[in-house]
Amino acid sequence: MIVDAIKQAAHGRWRSILALPLTRDDAGGQPCPKCGGEDRFHTDREFDDNGKVYCRGCLSKGSGDGISTFAWFNGIENKEAIKQLASELGVSVDRDNAPKRDLIEAVCIEKRMPVDAFKQFEPTLAKRGNREVVRVPVWNSKGEKHSYFDLWSNDKGKFARARAVVAPSGAAAMVFPTSLFPVASVTMI
Ligand SMILES: [Zn+2]
Repeated sequence: MIVDAIKQAAHGRWRSILALPLTRDDAGGQPCPKCGGEDRFHTDREFDDNGKVYCRGCLSKGSGDGISTFAWFNGIENKEAIKQLASELGVSVDRDNAPKRDLIEAVCIEKRMPVDAFKQFEPTLAKRGNREVVRVPVWNSKGEKHSYFDLWSNDKGKFARARAVVAPSGAAAMVFPTSLFPVASVTMI
């Protein structure tokens, strides 16, 4: 779905995409950018990743996700929010034109990787030349992102200076014994 593609593209970036006039960066109480007050509003702890916010004044159940936060703050329908965000993030709404939304799943199916397990690696959609790719960050032993690994459909993955990819949680790893993308039997997830 287009919604998934938007969430994928916005993951980790909701704070800057939404650009709410916030007075603090953490999830503590602060005035609501919509209905004021002093501390009635707070962002979700995973705000950068999910874009979710809460306001005791005008949004008691929370916004649900970044898309509805966008709709709430701009006073528009969710449908319109999806349209605007898709355009802003360069996510295609053209269903006939190989939707980007399916790329991560397509890559997983093709490489015989479980989608859920693969998502632990925080894949994002990226461009490599004109090609749409699924990009996985590569972490060094200090826990810093220092490189990335790109995968795409109908082809082999390509390394950018790395031969092993470890999930940020450290709970899973993909190891590539050669520079070619491995077959299922050598992928550890
Ligand atoms: Zn409010």
